[in-house]
Amino acid sequence: MKKPLLMIPGPVEVDQNVLEALGRPPLGHTSSGFIETFGACLAGLKVVFAAPDGMPVVVAGSGTLAMEMAVANVIERGDRAVVVETGVFSQRMADILTRCGAEVESVSAEVGQVPELKAVEKALKKGAKVLTITHVDTSTGVLAPVKEYSALARRYGALVVVDGVCAVAGQEFRQTEWDVDLCLTGSQKALASPPGLALVMARPRALEVFRARKTPVSSYFADWTLWLPVMQAYLDRKVAYFATPPVNLVTALGESVRHITAEGMEARWQRHQKVSDAFKAGVTALGLKQIPTKVENQAVTLTTMFFPEGVDASLVKRISEMGVEVAGGLYPTIKSRYFRVGHMGSNGIGEVLQTLSAIEKALDIKTGSGVTAANQLWLK
Ligand code: PMP
Repeated sequence: MKKPLLMIPGPVEVDQNVLEALGRPPLGHTSSGFIETFGACLAGLKVVFAAPDGMPVVVAGSGTLAMEMAVANVIERGDRAVVVETGVFSQRMADILTRCGAEVESVSAEVGQVPELKAVEKALKKGAKVLTITHVDTSTGVLAPVKEYSALARRYGALVVVDGVCAVAGQEFRQTEWDVDLCLTGSQKALASPPGLALVMARPRALEVFRARKTPVSSYFADWTLWLPVMQAYLDRKVAYFATPPVNLVTALGESVRHITAEGMEARWQRHQKVSDAFKAGVTALGLKQIPTKVENQAVTLTTMFFPEGVDASLVKRISEMGVEVAGGLYPTIKSRYFRVGHMGSNGIGEVLQTLSAIEKALDIKTGSGVTAANQLWLK
């Protein structure tokens, strides 16, 4: 049977060259070949995150481990943390912070909206060690104004932690310029690699806070005390070991990163924007309403849409029967009323048109208006 086109918000379609890298015989983790591959991958990630002064940490695990690693190393019991809540994944961050011993205040908004700067400021004024922001919350499709929140956090002396799992390498993000202290992601979304790697980019202020800790990091595996010397060694092309790196996944990611940096971040962000605009023009032409109502709060990496009147979640299955895999709802209060389509990585207009065509067929729309609208925008 033909493999369906993967249009869920991660994992995403992976290019052949990345798959080939994944399928090679494993290298020794201290071999010169792997040291060069990992070192180049880490250096390339600084370009991807636009963080020339960043320290990359890449370990085996999913995005959730990256979330935990980012906050567990800077939070100590009793610290206050403010969470900008825009969906399920910011709620998960609040849970992780609580587990790390933080006192958490979440600032939320109606589903599909972002909290007002004033509301976040009110929470920061009470004092906070960190402010966490989910750049794109994959459960709602909400894009948060990271740059604005980050500037605010700076005024109140809080570290800025960005969950970039559904954003990094797809959504414009300039970690150093926007003064974000910590950004984390997973390998399986806009980095266009298979799932299995947790990535954190830590800038100097975050590392200082980590070094000034009075208590040990509560998680053993996520402790930077163990990982930072290993990452520095790979960056310096030297041998080091703490825990065996997943050599094939790192080799595959290295291949992705090579392609991403060759494309260039500006070009890549623009391509993602254009692909997203085309898809969104298509679904709008089909009469589908997005969850984030304001354009500035709509993610570039995915689109979240309510089912039309009289249509239920069985639409997702019907779309998959047309050869395109999309995702159902995730946010609890509206879960059964919407679906999600990811458009990240190497996706282009071809994949967008195929997906819109599948949605039209599944909805029994025969005008082709979605496909036409997307194509018109693309050709503009
Ligand atoms: N944060 C965001 C924004 C996500 O989209 C996801 C995964 N969908 C996660 C965190 C968790 O990542 P993982 O499933 O890889 O643990």
